[in-house]
Amino acid sequence: MARRSVVVVGGGVAGLAAAYELSGPGASRDATTPRVELIELGERLGGALATIEFAGRVLDVGPDGVLARRPEALALVDELELGDRLEPIAASGAWIWLRGAAREMPDGLTLGVPTDAAALRRWPGLSRRARWALARDRRWPVRLSVGDDATIGAIVRAKLGDEVARGLVEPLIGGIQAGRIDELSARSVFPALLEAARRGGSLAAALGAGGPASPGPRHGAGSGGPAFVSLTSGLGSLVGALEGALAARGVVLRRATAVTALRRTPSGPYPWEVDTASTTTPADAIVLATPAPVTAALAGRHDAALAALSRVRSAGVAVVSLSLERATTTLPPTGTGLLVPLATAWSGPDTMLVTALTFLDRKWPHLRRDDDVLVRAHVGRSDDARWRDLDDDALVTRVLDEVRHLLGRVGPVRAAHVARWPAALAQYELGHAPLVEAARTRARDLGLALAGAAYDGVGVPATIGSGRRAAREVRDHFAN
Ligand SMILES: Cc1cc2nc3c(=O)[nH]c(=O)nc-3n(C[C@H](O)[C@H](O)[C@H](O)COP(=O)(O)OP(=O)(O)OC[C@H]3O[C@@H](n4cnc5c(N)ncnc54)[C@H](O)[C@@H]3O)c2cc1C
Repeated sequence: MARRSVVVVGGGVAGLAAAYELSGPGASRDATTPRVELIELGERLGGALATIEFAGRVLDVGPDGVLARRPEALALVDELELGDRLEPIAASGAWIWLRGAAREMPDGLTLGVPTDAAALRRWPGLSRRARWALARDRRWPVRLSVGDDATIGAIVRAKLGDEVARGLVEPLIGGIQAGRIDELSARSVFPALLEAARRGGSLAAALGAGGPASPGPRHGAGSGGPAFVSLTSGLGSLVGALEGALAARGVVLRRATAVTALRRTPSGPYPWEVDTASTTTPADAIVLATPAPVTAALAGRHDAALAALSRVRSAGVAVVSLSLERATTTLPPTGTGLLVPLATAWSGPDTMLVTALTFLDRKWPHLRRDDDVLVRAHVGRSDDARWRDLDDDALVTRVLDEVRHLLGRVGPVRAAHVARWPAALAQYELGHAPLVEAARTRARDLGLALAGAAYDGVGVPATIGSGRRAAREVRDHFAN
């Protein structure tokens, strides 16, 4: 039998993980190990996983840490023999800008949902009215009828009131997903919340008993928040390690090349052909590790369920990395960062662009130096693309003005860098789960497999998991 051919489209971490699983020990390299070709649009591999040289360090400008309680990233780190570079997050807790000041996040939050009314009894971040709504949830919980799914916003607003939704849940969950809680699906993003709402009774009590059951806060914010880990060489150094392993296994890695079409060739020796501007690669199976709308554009003509993936929107964000003189910059005394709720007043009718600040060298000790602090500012949400209208200099100036307002004392800037992620984070909106389920089923029937941040969760571990899962689907397809 001729050696099978698999093309992986997209060289983000999902595509790299799929190629790794297809070519590697999981597939027990032998005559059945397929020829694997990975085609990436960009000049470099890794997608959102990226590092730069900055202020004398290697700095992540995409993801900088992964949840330690999810196994997928750690397993890969282990397999790539990078275990000695693992670094646990060195700080805990976070701050949130509410009622005109930075407030230390209280204990007892599950993804922003307060589960410990006592911890909030005198917390100045919430008004008395909001605290009363929390007390009411304990004693006289609002009855809410939820079906298969509801938005996170609808559940939290109905049960705990607007202020908790806007001031705590939106900055935490909306921050991780760069989306709006009034659009995000509870079923896909925060299943424990949906479960608690369905059961009835107090939301806070139900969540408090169950603990966090979905992706944790980006900053490790809030007590009970999960621990994060990174690599001392930057999380982005996973990409170089994967690239090396794939090259050693004979995977063909093509950069700066867009896949332009997938054609079915049922009467030929291979069922598929994958086109780029200058080549055609025959394939027995294809892993589509591209953002959902790209996957829809490439595969949609072969099936309506795949075309429907064009409905998965993504949020663009920018990351502004700043090296600020340490002696003249004042950070909050503890914590990994400061969250800024949406629509926080700025000047006149204008609202802040910054959605969160992360104190990078507090999180990751290998980044610490005596003379500067590293602050990362996040801007952009699914419905806030104002950063796109500003060039890098203007964006840095605006962000610095906001950082000064948020932190008070900010010393001279030693270095600044802007990373733009125009289609960064897939939005899991209402109806996401059935949409994905249908697309996956149809893809499988056609000899296609779907991988990436649009399917099993937006975090790096989930994305690695989706790549490996897609590879296993391809193997199963060959076995049947
Ligand atoms: C700023 C930022 C911070 C984040 N922080 C964290 C964090 O701290 N922890 C965490 O766990 N997660 C974090 N995430 C999420 C995580 O990084 C991403 O979800 C994950 O990296 C997505 O990987 P992916 O392979 O699915 O997609 P991508 O990285 O987007 O890769 C898709 C690839 O497909 C390529 N492509 C597109 N069209 C074509 C085509 N026609 N032909 C060929 N190739 C094509 C693209 O160029 C791209 O490289 C963050 C994301 C961002 C943007």
